[in-house]
Amino acid sequence: MLSGKTAVVTGASRGIGKAIALKLASQGASVVVNYNGSKEKAREVEQEIQAQGGTASVYQCNVADYEQCETFIQDVIKQYGRVDILVNNAGITKDGLLMKMTEEDFDQVMDTNLKGAFHTIRFVSRQMLKQKSGRIINMSSVSGVAGNAGQANYAASKAGLIGLTKAAARELASRGITVNAIAPGFIETDMTSVLPEKVKEASVAQIPLGTFGKPEHVAAAVAFLASEEAGYITGQVLHVDGGMIM
Ligand code: NAP
Repeated sequence: MLSGKTAVVTGASRGIGKAIALKLASQGASVVVNYNGSKEKAREVEQEIQAQGGTASVYQCNVADYEQCETFIQDVIKQYGRVDILVNNAGITKDGLLMKMTEEDFDQVMDTNLKGAFHTIRFVSRQMLKQKSGRIINMSSVSGVAGNAGQANYAASKAGLIGLTKAAARELASRGITVNAIAPGFIETDMTSVLPEKVKEASVAQIPLGTFGKPEHVAAAVAFLASEEAGYITGQVLHVDGGMIM
């Protein structure tokens, strides 16, 4: 279904990004597994894809760094000749109440989660414009849609991603490039494993489907938005949250 396509997945060493990389590879895409610090885990994802007969390569790049992203995308284009799918999944949290949040914690989260997506879109879009096709999928969050106490930085970055998605969707639509966002709810990964049990229980109580989601639930939504069949969908936010936001 995605044979001949090249997909770049940021933050694909663990969690949701890993599930996305495996899913896109299982559909035939060549996948660039980006990571920042987790080299070994990224290599494991690459090997898992190769063991299943797929094509993958790992690439270290801190998406918060503009120049690193420029080199990253240039190198991917040199290696594969094209970029058909860009999934801006890399993300971090630095939670804390507003009154105590440091400027550094605010900036780091914005630089990774929001500016990181701007950087990669900035450099991938030129190639996609040439190709007259492309799929860009940005990982937002329920937090960016509804807000969340203790996550002013994270919620702002994820709300910003929705604005970025819609602006990019309007700019790139005439060349057959779609840009959409996914807003996951609570998904079982390293990011949510650190939450106190009490917070987890309170969160589950807000989920109509009654459980946390799995990375594979998000990966399935990404695969759909990356598909030919989703060609008439752009500028949208797809909620994968067990019904938290309706
Ligand atoms: P995770 O398990 O903490 O994994 C985060 C991934 O992002 C890792 O692969 C990490 O790479 C990468 N990353 C972090 N900073 C990076 C940087 N500066 N440059 C490149 N890669 C970087 O997180 P997750 O739960 O899978 O979340 C994935 C995305 O979904 C994030 O954007 C998150 O905000 C969003 N999301 C998650 C949930 C949830 O409930 N889990 C809900 C809503 C939205 P290294 O390991 O190499 O550092």
